[in-house]
Amino acid sequence: MGRCRVSSPVPIRPALFESAAQCERTGPCYPARSLKESAAAAMGIHDVHAHLTHPLLREHSDAVLDRAAKAGLSRIISNGLNPEDNAAVAALARRNQLVLPAFGLYPVDAVLPEMLAMGMEYPREAGAWTGEEAVQWVNKHCDDAVAIGEIGLDGYWVPEELWDRQEQLFRSLVQLAIDRDKPIIIHSRKRERRCLEILEEMGTRRANFHCFGGKVKLARRVAEAGFYLSIPANARRSQSFTRMLETLPRSQLLLETDCPYLAPQRGEDNEPGNVAVTADYAAELWDEDSDAVVRQLEENFFRLFRVEP
Ligand SMILES: [Zn+2]
Repeated sequence: MGRCRVSSPVPIRPALFESAAQCERTGPCYPARSLKESAAAAMGIHDVHAHLTHPLLREHSDAVLDRAAKAGLSRIISNGLNPEDNAAVAALARRNQLVLPAFGLYPVDAVLPEMLAMGMEYPREAGAWTGEEAVQWVNKHCDDAVAIGEIGLDGYWVPEELWDRQEQLFRSLVQLAIDRDKPIIIHSRKRERRCLEILEEMGTRRANFHCFGGKVKLARRVAEAGFYLSIPANARRSQSFTRMLETLPRSQLLLETDCPYLAPQRGEDNEPGNVAVTADYAAELWDEDSDAVVRQLEENFFRLFRVEP
């Protein structure tokens, strides 16, 4: 694995992207009125939750990253789901300085062999590793990651019989993050309250809840506990994310895409450049100019992840 990116950040140079392959898609995926056109672009915005190694994105990741840089992004955290995906994230981050690697164990992958053995269906095959081996992978490569993620609990796909097993692996990863002083990126679908309980009980200090699906009242509890929440690019069509942007402490909000999912327009593939849409939306809701919004969000990013611009 490469050098540590956290302590020796390298500024993004546009020249990096000059030879980027042309994307097959027509037209840019970021909005015409992107932050690039404002002075805010000088500082840059971030995406704390991307899956750049997803089959829908990895074939043309150079073009995706080119568009992200043009939309004003300075940092993209690509989240790994399992040992194979973590290795792909690490390779991509070595190749492109815009990408920061997070290594994790997706809460469905954590118990996927057990789910499939129970006869359940899931759109992905199980890997050739046990949950413990997947945790060991993260342990071994932790120094090269900017964060541990995506990890967490999932009660949407995973049946209740496997929740104890899922929780056991999650706790191992949370402990690892605490021991190694790494921030955590949390998936909490249908298990939001339990994730919060575990993080508080274990004494976690640095965590971001990605794409929080619980009630806004519970999101407020998450913020009160000192954790961050990242708002996806589809916030404008979500009452819940709109309320979070309006009412949660601005010093604990971040931007994410969860790309290729959760595009601003339903049915489209998402990509990191689309976080500019949420930054614009926050500027509207907060009645602030783009520069002030970007400055606030970047301060939050650096406070949690300790990565320089
Ligand atoms: Zn994700």
